[in-house]
Amino acid sequence: MAHGVKQIIFLGDGIGDRPVPALGGKTPLEYQETPALDLVAREGECGLMYPIRPGLPAGSDTAHMALLGYDPHQYYLGRGPFEAKGVGLDVRPGDLAFRCNFATLSDGIITDRRAGRIKSGTDQLAQALNEAFADGIDGVQVIVKESVEHRAAMILRGEGLSMHVTDADPHEVGVPPWDCKPTPGAEQDPAAQRTARVVNEFVRRSQEILSRAPVNVERVAQGLPPANVLLPRGVGTAPHLQPFSEQWGLSGAMIVEVDLVRGLGMYLGMDVVQVPGATGGADTDEMVLAQAAVAALAEHDFVLCNLKAPDLGGHDSTPEAKCAAIAKVDRAVGYLLDALDWDEHVLMIGGDHCTPITHGDHSGDAVPVAFYGHGVRPDYVTQYGERPCSQGALGRFLAADVMYLLGNYAGTIHKFGA
Ligand code: ZN
Ligand code: ZN
Repeated sequence: MAHGVKQIIFLGDGIGDRPVPALGGKTPLEYQETPALDLVAREGECGLMYPIRPGLPAGSDTAHMALLGYDPHQYYLGRGPFEAKGVGLDVRPGDLAFRCNFATLSDGIITDRRAGRIKSGTDQLAQALNEAFADGIDGVQVIVKESVEHRAAMILRGEGLSMHVTDADPHEVGVPPWDCKPTPGAEQDPAAQRTARVVNEFVRRSQEILSRAPVNVERVAQGLPPANVLLPRGVGTAPHLQPFSEQWGLSGAMIVEVDLVRGLGMYLGMDVVQVPGATGGADTDEMVLAQAAVAALAEHDFVLCNLKAPDLGGHDSTPEAKCAAIAKVDRAVGYLLDALDWDEHVLMIGGDHCTPITHGDHSGDAVPVAFYGHGVRPDYVTQYGERPCSQGALGRFLAADVMYLLGNYAGTIHKFGA
């Protein structure tokens, strides 16, 4: 169902910041030359956006949920389901999903949590586990799927399961795998007790199964650490989420460099486009990302793009890296400005949250945003950045408002009332 005006959200992950002494007290957005972002701000309508609520630091997953119109307080039940979806598992509402590591166990002690960063053969190891657990554990279906290197995901599917259990991964070496237990407060919950039993049984039996697997026999012969145990952690329950197309009546695509967010997009039934050259690192090719966005707009009503690199500069507390990443966002947005007819498109630029350099992690600060294109009423802001956008016409609002603001400009939001 194609609509006239198409909608784009272009995000620099963690792009918002605080004043940085090394940048003369400017924020990276204020310091870095950003001609395209400034044009969007100058000809568009600006404001500050809180991802979830003022002051609450948001993860990339919860912030993107909020941006797409799904209240994370209501629907976010852990990152596991989106990661499992992102690696290609068929995740169904109610499933328990875990992130897992293939690790090395020696005499019952974990000696390498990443099994020597094993590069190949984990598909065969996952297959060996799936075959061995084909009958499930205590009536619970077990499905494992490998991801990159030592990473994997696991689903438990069945009645009477609970996400209120602890990790089996102790997050350190020199100790045995942890016993999975009900979390504090859930000790008496039969579902949590049952889930813990199933996880412990899985971890115990996975050791025998994996040790026998030809991949590991060969690794041992080559002097490499075997991937002889699978350690689940980060459990979540797969939520009931209405597909994006039903929620908003728009066909949506996602071009993002964050695996977790890609998993969310897949979970919502969006068209998740993989772009070769979009590495998710500082070396990413922002132009292929922008080109993919333009291509996706030919097929879809709505496209969300996220360029990951600004977040990395924030986490690493490196002003140069964050400024260089912002320059990439600017070039990508510049490409969109040239490539698209702005009578037929509306754009929001911004970020999913702030990752301030002086903080080294996500903060609960508001993110500067600007809307541009069809239907947008320009305000007096002439530059993109934290301070300029604080004077914009939109004031302060929540990410939960974004689909309404965009849809209002595009004319896709139905009237409430007569
Ligand atoms: Zn993020
Ligand atoms: Zn981050």
